[in-house]
Amino acid sequence: MGSGSRGNATIVLENDRGVLIDCGFNRKNILLRLQESGVDPRQLDGVFVTHEHGDHAKGVAALCEALSIPFYASFGTARKMEWTEHPLWRCISSDQVTSVGGLAVLPVVVPHDAEEPLQFVLENSAEKRLGVLSDLGSLTPHIVNVYQRCHALQVEANHDPLMLQNGPYPPSLRARVAGNFGHLSNQQCAELISRVQWDGLQHVTAGHISEKNNDRALVSQTLSQALQCAPHEVSLLQQDQVSDWRQL
Ligand SMILES: [Zn+2]
Ligand SMILES: [Zn+2]
Repeated sequence: MGSGSRGNATIVLENDRGVLIDCGFNRKNILLRLQESGVDPRQLDGVFVTHEHGDHAKGVAALCEALSIPFYASFGTARKMEWTEHPLWRCISSDQVTSVGGLAVLPVVVPHDAEEPLQFVLENSAEKRLGVLSDLGSLTPHIVNVYQRCHALQVEANHDPLMLQNGPYPPSLRARVAGNFGHLSNQQCAELISRVQWDGLQHVTAGHISEKNNDRALVSQTLSQALQCAPHEVSLLQQDQVSDWRQL
């Protein structure tokens, strides 16, 4: 539905029912994006929230209240968002699967500078697996282990380290982004892909691409090397446009 530092949301549909992962867009904006993708909001059964940063969480409660659907977030995220008394909040914990509609959703702990950040691996009844991974500063053995055998991956390729170093950010923000609890560089994204690649991997999409500290051609180039494909075959998410569907 859109990805970047000004808002993130991903929709996953299974047999016409679906969930959103994050809603960093306001209600009007996300409803417009859903419409552009041909989704009726009444098809949604819930929203899974990765962490409290505004580009992921700011539209969640308003959307869920309007649709009367639950939202799923860790206790830490809920506390930061002041959701712990909210009737639509459902608490999720790392490594404990929650089933919604036809989807089993596994929350995965990631290193990021938030209270209790999670990312998700989703699986349907045909055992097709989608890994969604953004907002993490480094790869852990646990992450590399859990994201194995995915049929599709949506991974953060946030910045090019040289562009970040020479870019417009003040030194403190630069250090935050580059740090172990910040965001993945193009190279770290490529490393993750190389380490989980297998014959069943059908789609790889790169997201959360910085508009100031990255260049889309660099992302394509770096990831195409890891995937051993042509640069134009790497698909990149956009901030201001919804993406085409990927089918598993
Ligand atoms: Zn983010
Ligand atoms: Zn974040």
